Formats: sequence, structure tokens, C-alpha cells
Amino acid sequence: MVSERINEIKKTLPEGVRLVAVSKFHPASLIREAYDGGQRIFGESHVQELVSKYEELPKDIEWHFIGHLQTNKVKYIAPFVSLIHAVDSEHLIREIDKQAKRCNRTIPVLLEVHVAQEETKYGFSPDELLAFMKDGTWQQYQNVNICGLMCMATNTDDETQIAREFEQARELFELINSKWLNGKWTTCSWGMSHDYPIAVRHGATLVRIGSLIFGERNYQK
Ligand SMILES: *Cc1c(COP(=O)(O)O)cnc(C)c1O
Repeated sequence: MVSERINEIKKTLPEGVRLVAVSKFHPASLIREAYDGGQRIFGESHVQELVSKYEELPKDIEWHFIGHLQTNKVKYIAPFVSLIHAVDSEHLIREIDKQAKRCNRTIPVLLEVHVAQEETKYGFSPDELLAFMKDGTWQQYQNVNICGLMCMATNTDDETQIAREFEQARELFELINSKWLNGKWTTCSWGMSHDYPIAVRHGATLVRIGSLIFGERNYQK
């Protein structure tokens, strides 16, 4: 079932758009099912849950951390995480750099930009993001590889609004990529179960899909 849903979704994704199967709150047995069907990228948003699944499951899984990451927990995932999606402060980048160095590796990350209308504590505002890039101190972290942006659209049925928000993220991506990165940025992480088709039309290269694959999450556990 899980693999069939993944294949259905993959059929709708243009070439170059990769699927992160968001497995948070779902048991390792379901991840294993998806894995056996060929899926290799999984997304989790809680450190402890990610670490225990990492230990239990095959080592060629690409684990993405997609939630808000607290600095004091970076050390637990630094040895194995493939991509950290929602980086929103220099403080966090500094810690990721430090822990990556200790593990003798470079950790790819995305900067989270806040384009939705909803209030949230997380993400750079577009102005903060541009100021951060202009400032240039991000270049000193040699064990962190910033490779693009991540965002979430407002949780609404208004598709025009969702499209506008993803488009704003795309414009920021392109501006930053040409102005400061020489086109080296590769990754736009946007789109979830309910809005990923819109995200794909507005520049996404990585979509993060959970409930459409695994069903509703049970938060009671
Ligand atoms: C849970 C989560 C998703 C997946 O959401 P679905 O609606 O289940 O597809 C995507 N991105 C982030 C950051 C999440 O926390």
C-alpha cells in the first residue's frame, strides 16, 4: 500500500524533483515497507525518534531532518543526517558546523524562509534572509554546506495565495543564487501532501510528503 502510494506520487513529479517521505510518528515497519519498494529518502522532525529509527533501519537510507532543530540536539544527528531542512539562525549553523567537524564531515543544510501569512517563531523573514546572505559570515562555516531554501506555505484552501508564497520563495532563491552563490545552490524544499502540486509548479526540487503516503499521524503515542 505504502509503496503504491509512493509510486503514484512519483508519477506526478517532473524529472529533477525528489520525494522526501515524511515518516514522523509512523512505525519503522512502515518505513521498511517503503524502503523495500525502493524509497530511500525519509524525513523526520524529532531528534530522538530519528535516532532510534536510524539505528533500527538500513544504513543506506538518506535521513532528512525537517523540523525545528534545537542547538543542544544537533550532536545526536550530526554523524548521519543527510540534509537539515529548516535552519533559521547563525547560532544553529555554528553548532551544526562544530558537530560536523567533530564527525569529520560536511553537513548539507537549507535555510528556512518565512513566506506564509501565519505567525510563527521560525524561519528568516525575506528581509532577514537577504541581510544574512549579504553579511557573508555564513561563508566561514566550512563543515556546513548551505545548498538552498526551505519554506512552508500558509495552511489555506486559497491556491492563489499558496502559489504566491511559493513563488516568493522561488524569487528569493534565484536572487540569492545569482548574487552570492554563482548558481551553486541546488535545492528548493517546498510542498507537502495538500499543496505539493502547486509547489512543483513554483520551483520545488524536493517535496516533503507524509500523510498522503502513510495516512494520518497518531500524535497520542
Ligand atoms: C509533517 C511535515 C510535513 C509533511 O506533512 P503532510 O501534510 O503529512 O504531508 C512536511 N514538512 C514539514 C516541515 C513537516 O513537519
